[in-house]
Amino acid sequence: MNHLMSSLIELITETSTNLPPDVRAAMGLALEEETPGTQSAQALGIIASNIDMAQQDAGPICQDTGMPTFLVHTPVGVNQLQVKRAIREAVAEATRRGKLRPNSVDSLTGKNSGDNLGIETPVIHFEQWEEDEIEVKLILKGGGCENKNIQYSVPCELDHLGRADRNLEGVRKCILHAVWQAQGQGCAPGAVGVCVGSDRAHGYDLAKGQLFRTLDDVNPVPELAKLEAAIMEEANRIGVGAMGFGGKVSLIGCKIGMANRLPASYFVSVAYDCWAFRRLGVRLDAASGAITKWLYRDPDRAVQKMARAEGFPLTGREVVLTAPLSEEAVRALRVGDVVLISGEVYTGRDNVHAYLMKNPPPVDLHGAVLYHCGPVMLKEGDEWVVKAAGPTTSSREEPYQATVIEKYGVRAVIGKGGMGKKTLDALQKSGAVYLNGIGGAAQFYARTVEKVLGVHLLPEFGIPEAMWHLRVKNFAAIVTMDAHGNSLHADVERETGAKLEALQGV
Ligand code: SF4
Repeated sequence: MNHLMSSLIELITETSTNLPPDVRAAMGLALEEETPGTQSAQALGIIASNIDMAQQDAGPICQDTGMPTFLVHTPVGVNQLQVKRAIREAVAEATRRGKLRPNSVDSLTGKNSGDNLGIETPVIHFEQWEEDEIEVKLILKGGGCENKNIQYSVPCELDHLGRADRNLEGVRKCILHAVWQAQGQGCAPGAVGVCVGSDRAHGYDLAKGQLFRTLDDVNPVPELAKLEAAIMEEANRIGVGAMGFGGKVSLIGCKIGMANRLPASYFVSVAYDCWAFRRLGVRLDAASGAITKWLYRDPDRAVQKMARAEGFPLTGREVVLTAPLSEEAVRALRVGDVVLISGEVYTGRDNVHAYLMKNPPPVDLHGAVLYHCGPVMLKEGDEWVVKAAGPTTSSREEPYQATVIEKYGVRAVIGKGGMGKKTLDALQKSGAVYLNGIGGAAQFYARTVEKVLGVHLLPEFGIPEAMWHLRVKNFAAIVTMDAHGNSLHADVERETGAKLEALQGV
């Protein structure tokens, strides 16, 4: 199988950099449906540009590679051990080429393996089948949306929706709740894969498996087809909107499967995927490993450009800021303002925040902009180069953020999905803001980095978790939590909860 490795590297590269046509079509509809001039429309504009940039430059659509998950079908007689070895080698090679971020961390030591290989990483499921060819499907689903997966043991009580019973009406409530609870943290608009039944462990597996269906297919089970259509309509009336900014499009797909269950159990398992829905597949010649066919797309059909306009859709009302920031400039900002930041920015995510609770920062953070981001970086000669650099989910830093702001004088935090009350209080007390970047817009934001000025804590934490010192130009973000006690996230959660209640009896 002398073509197997190159075929697999091509599959990984294409999956990471080029969204499939069904996802592009769904995002195209989202762009058309959103109200022009709103924050959600601006977010969708950036996402569309990002999709184009990733495809043009063969760069990762999002910096978060996620857990690479392969679903492989082999004819009888094919050596699955050989295929497994090739997949692992291809993953490591794609990581070396900057198509995947080193994303595999030892759960005891916290050490990043650097090549996306480790215990049970990548995930590979094998099945045998009667066909002559090998089929390999791949999904890359990042941590932000993975953290919003949810499993319900029915009957149960749900916020704003009341009791969910053991019937399709109960399933409907669970799925609507799953979309609502994700808010912007899973980079909405998203898609849900659902499994009704099975046991806890396999239910999640089967829910993720539904994400291998195309977004525009029709469920062969009439009751489930009807439920999928109803969820699409209702979930888009809740008003979560792109990035949780509030808006018309919250969901781009709902795929429901079912499995038998134990009499005592009734699980509804939901796998939430973000707009950066990276899923592709190939058929391979079983003798040579060469690609005979692409799944989910026609390689002879030209890829349609997504963006309606070049770059960030400016309105002229943007606030231009230069970091480091003064308290006066920050206190003048209000929720809803769009800012364009230039100057120096430091990245910091989970490990950096935990470190700062016990140790002084390696740099002066007074007036600083702290960016929740784990970039994809490559060393070219002596220089580090940013390959992808979108924001990560901020809520993970909620236990630490207030201390970091108050103790070290940070003036602005950039992330996605918003933060909680403790951080909001610290922003007010210290004169700081939370800025929501557009989750997954890794190529868009990588292009705002003029230079990598340095890196701290790299040997300790590895590439995604290190503290990168960047000089940026016109980094666009939206003020979603200000120094006056206002939070767009709290407002949207309250308003969407009320809309969910209105749907309860539909
Ligand atoms: S788009 Fe958002 S949720 Fe999806 S992988 Fe990227 S950062 Fe994670």
